Amino acid sequence: MSAAPHVRFAPSPTGRLHVGNGRIAVVNWLFAKHLGGRFLLRLDDTDLERSTTAFAEGIEADLAWLGLAWDGFARQSDRMDRYTAAAEKLRAGGRLYPCYETPEELSLKRKAQRAAGRPPRYDRAALWLTADERRALEAAGRRPHWRFRLEDRDVVWADLVRGEQHFAATHLSDPVLLREDGRPLYTLSSTVDDIELGITHVIRGEDHVANTAVQVELFEALGGPVPAFAHLPLLVDAAGAGLSKRLGSLSLESLRAEGVEALTLASYLAKLGSSDAIEVRTSLDQLAREFDLAHLGRAAPRFDPQELWPLNARLLHQLPFAAVAGRVDGLDEALWLAIRGNLTRLSEATDWLAICRGETTPVVEDAAFLAAAAALLPPEPWDGTTWKAWTEAVKQVTGHKGRALFHPLRLALTGREQGPEMAALLPLIGRGRALARLGGSS
Ligand code: GLU
Repeated sequence: MSAAPHVRFAPSPTGRLHVGNGRIAVVNWLFAKHLGGRFLLRLDDTDLERSTTAFAEGIEADLAWLGLAWDGFARQSDRMDRYTAAAEKLRAGGRLYPCYETPEELSLKRKAQRAAGRPPRYDRAALWLTADERRALEAAGRRPHWRFRLEDRDVVWADLVRGEQHFAATHLSDPVLLREDGRPLYTLSSTVDDIELGITHVIRGEDHVANTAVQVELFEALGGPVPAFAHLPLLVDAAGAGLSKRLGSLSLESLRAEGVEALTLASYLAKLGSSDAIEVRTSLDQLAREFDLAHLGRAAPRFDPQELWPLNARLLHQLPFAAVAGRVDGLDEALWLAIRGNLTRLSEATDWLAICRGETTPVVEDAAFLAAAAALLPPEPWDGTTWKAWTEAVKQVTGHKGRALFHPLRLALTGREQGPEMAALLPLIGRGRALARLGGSS
């Protein structure tokens, strides 16, 4: 490969991104960045009925959240004249022909073919219409849609994930490129854009394999270079079933709202279905350095949202304060370093913030023991050694040791069974709060 790759992520703004789209976006981005290439965001919004500005903005927000900055941006609805020009070129070359069948007629044809044990394939009846017949159909109110005439040859490409792909000409139907109202369909618009925007690698889901077969011919007919293709298997759930029914709950937006960190999801999606171990990384750059398309397998990867939580915890445990600064009101570095090792979600930081800087209800099991401990609290300033010195003194005076010493103190001081190291928490809680929670008086 000579020049740096130029890839695109091409969602249709007919909904928010789900983990399946997210994986395609992550893989495209990492592939490009690994090789110093460019990542283009292209909104496939030619379906005017289903595309909305709100979804387009939502997709941009989803990608921005994941950290996948785009180096270029295109919107298909801005490029309609390009598709018209490409259709003209095909028409002039005799590769685009008008068809008049209604959807019902086409469906009947397909049924008949299936009944005869043949693959459903457009029979090209319209190709043989005379000019008079066409005029008669149009006079009767029919408007043509336009099909691309494929050559009667097999299509072959070396897929970067699936290996060599071979499509027999007999299985391919001439695709419709323009609808009755003249609007282009995805097969055309995508190919025109991939050529004109200089895309070198098309990385997308394997639901597009059949599109690729016809698009390869279309690239050639339009005189563009044929890009390299990589088709990734679609994700399945933990039980091996397709994700389509659960995609709402697996939107990037909802995972984010549940507390999944962007880097957790990006790491998971980068490693899923690959020969690499699934491990969280603290930067996209690191994921990009490690990325290799050749590590991705052909088997459908299982996406299990439960697997995200241990990764999320591992990520939070490693993040420096700078990575979370500004995301939790009142959080400071000392508090962050004390609590990060106990978090599964960043939002849990607010609980510890309240415990250290605000109010919490102490759990009191043995008031006399706590009062004795309170009386031994040293004067401030406190630091990381205070807990050890204080509990040593409490042990001497009360005779409590081990769990009987530490656990009641934790319960009273934090109101929690478990949590971060008390040595780190105690100076953050401070003497005033500690005294009050232990039931002592100052
Ligand atoms: N808009 C298409 C989709 O969302 C793009 C497919 C492609 O990458 O070519 O499936």
